Amino acid sequence: MKSEDQVPNLQTKDVSSISEQRYQAFIQNSSEGIWCLELEVPIDIKASPEEQINCLYRDAYVIECNDALARMLGFNQREQVVGMRMGNLMPRLSSGNVDLLQEFIRSGYRINERESQELSRNAEVMVFLGSLTGVVQDGVLCRVWGVKRDITKEKQANTLREALLASLKEKTQEMESLLYVTSHDLRTPLVNIQGFSQRMEKACSDLVHILEGEPDQDCLREKILAIANEQMPVCLNYITTSINKMDMLIAALLRISRLGRSDLNPVKLDMNRLVAEVIRALKTQADQDGVVFHVAKLPRCLGDASEINQVFTNLVDNAIKYRNIEKPLIIRITGELSGTEAVYCVADTGCGISQEHHEKIWTMFYRLNPRSPIAGEGIGLTLARRIIQRHSGRIWLESLPGEGCRFFVSLTAAGA
Ligand code: ADP
Repeated sequence: MKSEDQVPNLQTKDVSSISEQRYQAFIQNSSEGIWCLELEVPIDIKASPEEQINCLYRDAYVIECNDALARMLGFNQREQVVGMRMGNLMPRLSSGNVDLLQEFIRSGYRINERESQELSRNAEVMVFLGSLTGVVQDGVLCRVWGVKRDITKEKQANTLREALLASLKEKTQEMESLLYVTSHDLRTPLVNIQGFSQRMEKACSDLVHILEGEPDQDCLREKILAIANEQMPVCLNYITTSINKMDMLIAALLRISRLGRSDLNPVKLDMNRLVAEVIRALKTQADQDGVVFHVAKLPRCLGDASEINQVFTNLVDNAIKYRNIEKPLIIRITGELSGTEAVYCVADTGCGISQEHHEKIWTMFYRLNPRSPIAGEGIGLTLARRIIQRHSGRIWLESLPGEGCRFFVSLTAAGA
């Protein structure tokens, strides 16, 4: 007898069709990308991981995938992905993909939540987070099921976030050192102005006392002259020098702060032309000192013409200023391509810089010899470094005392 709530007696054929429908509904409605790789030639699991990876790249193709995966890769329908080789989707782009496959093999053909780099339809590199499960039958790997999620945007946002954090950290450190240097260096002339102003006050009150209490005219004249001719001019001289120093420091600070605010206009730079302009501008000084220049053929780079000119002007100007008076000064400017970078070198035969100063010379207002008669504010190299950092380049120094300096500048190369 057949009751109302009795489950109908399903044929095996019906059960398998329901199961297939359920499976299709599950795969097609999933928001995760699902794919299955079939191996044209099943892989012997006893083969070495390297051999197995080669076989995967050669023989694995997509036999099945859902629309979600097709869309992630930039296709309209799953049929466009079916039949593609594994190597077309997950190429040996980075060592990461090969590492992932090695781990998949070593861990018994199952890995979870691992990153892979893949290529979209437009050949854009995408990052996925996914799992792989291999089907092994009779000692051979026949197919691999995969589930994955597109995390390209998350990764890009993370990279951007990290870059912003690093630049924020760098800016904070710069601000801190700027504050320290400013307060420290501006204090010295200020203390001088305070001290000598007090001495001026004292000299004025001495004058009043002398004028009130000294009846002898000759003696009075002598005492007043001593104060007016000696004490007061000395004090005023110190005060004026300190004010000039403060003025120079504030002007230097303004130059540095302006640099951070102006827009960069990077163009393809003919560096031989730029260096020729730099040398021409420093010609009078260089001729006086009998400087010999050797300029090699320089590669082109990308940069803001006026800022890069400023960098090379500072470097060549320093090479002339800090010459060794006992030796002829030769300045060599060379450059070469290194990968995507153009690396330039300004080398001199000057007095050189000992290792302990190699980091400090980039600091604002730092001079190896603060009492040097050679004119300078101690910001030329600070400016140079800032400009190069703004160009995402590098600047560094190699030098030994007595053996001259070699300043290197690395910028993005700009082709022929
Ligand atoms: P400034 O030249 O105004 O002092 P810089 O920032 O350009 O400031 O240089 C900082 C210090 O580094 C200089 O005072 C000098 O002592 C040292 N220096 C820079 N370039 C050279 C060089 N080519 N040879 C020797 N010393 C140098």
